[in-house]
Amino acid sequence: MASVLLGWQKGRGGGGGGGRVQALIYEFQHRCALPLHLLRKISEAMTHEMTAGLSTESGSRMPMLPTFVEKMPTGNEKGVYYAVDLGGTNFRVLRVLLGGREKRVMKQEFEEVAIPHPLMVGTSAELYDFIAKKLTDFVSRESSEFSTHAAAGARELGLTFSFPISQHSINSGLLIMWTKGFKIADGVGQDVVQALQQAMNRQHGPKLRVAALVNDTVGTMAGGRYFDPDVMIGIILGTGTNACYFERADNVHKLQNGKPLPKTGSMVYNMEWGAFWSSHIPTTHVDEQLDAESINPGQQLYEKMIGGMYLGDIVRRMLLKLAREASLFSGEVPQQLMTPFVLGTPEVSKMHADESIDLRVVAKTLAKIGIHRTYLHTRRAVHDVCDIVALRSARLAAAGITGILRKIGRDGKNGEYTRTVIAMDGGLYEHYAKFRIYIQAALTELLGEEAVKYVVLENFKDGSGIGATLLAACHSQHG
Ligand code: BGC
Ligand code: MG
Repeated sequence: MASVLLGWQKGRGGGGGGGRVQALIYEFQHRCALPLHLLRKISEAMTHEMTAGLSTESGSRMPMLPTFVEKMPTGNEKGVYYAVDLGGTNFRVLRVLLGGREKRVMKQEFEEVAIPHPLMVGTSAELYDFIAKKLTDFVSRESSEFSTHAAAGARELGLTFSFPISQHSINSGLLIMWTKGFKIADGVGQDVVQALQQAMNRQHGPKLRVAALVNDTVGTMAGGRYFDPDVMIGIILGTGTNACYFERADNVHKLQNGKPLPKTGSMVYNMEWGAFWSSHIPTTHVDEQLDAESINPGQQLYEKMIGGMYLGDIVRRMLLKLAREASLFSGEVPQQLMTPFVLGTPEVSKMHADESIDLRVVAKTLAKIGIHRTYLHTRRAVHDVCDIVALRSARLAAAGITGILRKIGRDGKNGEYTRTVIAMDGGLYEHYAKFRIYIQAALTELLGEEAVKYVVLENFKDGSGIGATLLAACHSQHG
């Protein structure tokens, strides 16, 4: 980071306002900085909020939702199962043939489509009809390789729904609110399984039963656990962000839908950590603006600093500020930068990874959104902004992770080291190499060189979909 900024001072050529640009970037960097003492405070706040959220129903901004998932796949699951995975950006349907302990996932097929934007802001019926149609078509194309192994009767399905849901059982629950880019007013408060079932009936397709309704973090954790028994936590770093983990029943004191929860054993809790907040988290004017102009102001504030949906837009807003207040683009304020979300996290990741002397990837990426012929010092400034924003996101996520580890006694502070695997999924984690490096570095700072060796972040790509089929199998009626 420092070397990048030093380099910035050299190749300044024309354009004016260079000193001002640099001053604003330094200020931004300073405001986004998360030195270790702050990270620790945030991490402790995470642990504290977890306990608070488990004590009473409104004990924390973090919902800490019971999932009714009390068992994880063992490897013995057999048969044909389906999953529907509604994420933040993509929608996928899949089927697997599970062959038990030796053979495991013998065959899988999936189809994936980007969710058309109108569906994210339309009506609930439109969304569920879309899902039901894709699912019906997909199930009807089941080949004999699968069907000869399927139990008689309805096919069973895991439904991965990547939004906060207040569950009543493993396969029912009401949508609490939308997050990420979704806003479908009549969907809130609906039972998502019922809504899908009704849409399925409208399709008059093959018979299907939703055996498990799961958050994507829970699906990812189950998918991870199937391959590695040390998986204790599931984390999504994608369009949005969230975490889940196993919690002992006697640590939970709140009621769910007015009823006490089981008092023995343990259950997976969907933290909905996107809603987390701590006064120790540094914010900038850019964050305040982004939140105020979002479709869910005041909500998901931690997510808005971490999630892939927002990182690109934080960068865009900062570049716009630099253009307006410090003539970053030679006095012009590029019109393109006024379009919300014109810069995505994939672009930020690409520009950030650019190590060429003349930052030609940065130039190309800017050209793609219509900003042509930039000076090298401008491109360096853009590169710096990407670095600052990604670094902050990764460090915040690492603070959250250590908060969970502390809660479950796996942070090594009691002198005991136990291998703990965290099942990771989501495009931000998967595709953004520097982001992964920053998370790992912050974890090392927080946990220490020794303890960090026992904490393994493992990317289970599309774990949430496979995990949902496995949880459907675990909760099957076919026995
Ligand atoms: C949702 C979570 C989800 C996360 C990752 C958040 O916006 O509230 O339920 O797990 O995104 O997809
Ligand atoms: Mg996903």
